[in-house]
Amino acid sequence: MQSFKLKDYNLGDTIAAIATFPSLSALGVIKVSGKKAFPIISKIFLPRRKKDMRKVKTYTLHYGWIMEKSKVPALPAGRKSQKSKMGNQKIRTMNHELRTTNYIVDEVLVSVMRAPNSYTREDVVEISSHGGILVSNKILEIILREGARLALPGEFTYRALAKGRIDLLQAESILDIVEARSEEGLKAAAMQLSGESSQKIKKIKDEIKEVFVETESSINFPEDDTSICLTQAKRKIKVIEKKINQFLQGGQEAKILKEGTRCVICGKVNTGKSTLFNRLLGEERVIVSNYAGTTRDVIEETINIRGIPLRIYDTAGILEPKDFIAKEAIEKSQAALGGADLVILLLDGSKSLGKDDYFLLEKVRNKNTILAVNKIDLPQRIKNISKFKGYRVGLSALKNTGIEDLEEAIFKSVYKKGLHRQDMVFLSQYQRQSLRAAGDNIVEARNFLDKGHTIDFVNLSLKSSLDNLGKLTGEVLTEEILEGIFSNFCIGK
Ligand code: GDP
Repeated sequence: MQSFKLKDYNLGDTIAAIATFPSLSALGVIKVSGKKAFPIISKIFLPRRKKDMRKVKTYTLHYGWIMEKSKVPALPAGRKSQKSKMGNQKIRTMNHELRTTNYIVDEVLVSVMRAPNSYTREDVVEISSHGGILVSNKILEIILREGARLALPGEFTYRALAKGRIDLLQAESILDIVEARSEEGLKAAAMQLSGESSQKIKKIKDEIKEVFVETESSINFPEDDTSICLTQAKRKIKVIEKKINQFLQGGQEAKILKEGTRCVICGKVNTGKSTLFNRLLGEERVIVSNYAGTTRDVIEETINIRGIPLRIYDTAGILEPKDFIAKEAIEKSQAALGGADLVILLLDGSKSLGKDDYFLLEKVRNKNTILAVNKIDLPQRIKNISKFKGYRVGLSALKNTGIEDLEEAIFKSVYKKGLHRQDMVFLSQYQRQSLRAAGDNIVEARNFLDKGHTIDFVNLSLKSSLDNLGKLTGEVLTEEILEGIFSNFCIGK
């Protein structure tokens, strides 16, 4: 993360950055946005077919070479090879002040997007070069030399926001698309980018405004017939409250999709934790052994279960330490259990419940727990687990049976009310706070109405709610908020 001040985001500058991760990849993309984008590209790019790059049509793609002025003539001296490299175009007749002292940096494709139909609503040029670390950096360096400035984190997206192409909710979703770790998360973020969440917020705001206007006229013309109908206002406010709560719930679901659910697998030794962990992971990651206490530490892996990223932890056991190393591992396991959103407590179905099982059953009593009875392929001796709460599944980690039931139980215990992608919304911490505050204002307004307070109070609460919702979409913005949001972006986005 890079720290910067919003004032550094000078909208008048032409900005440039490498949009791809500099690595040994097949392609690298360099983006340029601003007034100088076309003049710069026409100076440094030699198209295969002669044309003036300043005048080419929007949404077109151009093949050619990025050239750099140099004292070292890089083109082959012989006329013939010059022709074959550059096609039929003669270098000296080019419209580019390019002479043989120019050398080829890379063979590229240039796409152009003219204002206002681009990501930033400015003139944008994107150069697809070959991948690798050196070549894209070299091209960027040439662009900067020609008058562009290196873009700050999130500066392209900031321009889209500043020029009104997207609102804050959409800006936030862009980050979530980039960072998505599951397919469900990606779908929800893409939906948000399309503006659906913004539309929903707008609708809620319109509904609040409607009641707000009624309260205004009731305050200004108390003797009028137009004065507020209290029962109707109460009904409307209840609907609004429900919608905001739904939105908050959607924010919570999106948070799980984004950050993943912390799921701990625990159980006494030899119940098959490592075997199950490997089974869920689909690979032999943890050493499985018949000797008690082989897994020494907490191992974390992220897997996807029905589109939910699940951060699973295989614990060494949280029972009595047998030796020093185990003691350390046990402490870590206890900590993992403490922070878990979901616990899979594994029990050995081929044995009756023992002291250790009861200890663990007690420990997870207030947690979101799945009681998983393993080794159902063996004769069953386990009894008395029906009195413990939590989802119950039978499985055999070794024989690979019942795993789907376990996955179903995981899904259901994470999304108790099902997954409502249409309600899901990715919010920054600041946005979540604003939404919560907007909801509190509505509850306040309802309470004032219920208790028969003067309509002025209701009016004020509704006004605050509208202001708080405005913060969500970015109508009310401060430098601090913007800096907070955009410093999470990477350069080039
Ligand atoms: P942990 O100590 O809880 O991690 O247990 P492990 O995964 O190391 O397994 C202990 C032993 O139980 C190994 O020999 C496994 O092969 C065996 N085991 C695990 N799951 C099953 C199962 O579903 N059925 C049977 N029969 N054996 C299992």
